[in-house]
Amino acid sequence: MQFPGLRKTRSLEITRFDNIESLAKIDAGFRSYQIIFRFSSAAVIQIGRLGSFKFERGEYVYTGSAVRNLSARIRRHLRTRKKLHWHIDYILSDSRVRPLKVLISTLPECKLNQLTPGRIVVANFGSSDCRSGCISHLKML
Ligand SMILES: [Zn+2]
Repeated sequence: MQFPGLRKTRSLEITRFDNIESLAKIDAGFRSYQIIFRFSSAAVIQIGRLGSFKFERGEYVYTGSAVRNLSARIRRHLRTRKKLHWHIDYILSDSRVRPLKVLISTLPECKLNQLTPGRIVVANFGSSDCRSGCISHLKML
């Protein structure tokens, strides 16, 4: 699967989460990632200081980046037990959420995010240090 706006860009899809380390080492040019996940039921979740939000059942995509150690960042996101730090941590550690796939890309994260379709459900999610005008780095598909 690839989002239509991203067809001509280079990306890699990961659906097996046990070998992310080796995949990411194939090309150090990958700098951003998307985690596609599903809420199995509607849920209200407190996202740190951002507030409490209701998420409908369905699929979502979160876009982020890591200049170094992209694979380590992704593996951290996929662990359910961790200290909650980023906005996305509050979602991915919830038992009603299941990661479906990870896409890694050579595009800068904001460009990748803006080329991705979807509906914004929480403004300012994961975009507090974003200077490219993204309203949110989380979208409902
Ligand atoms: Zn952005």
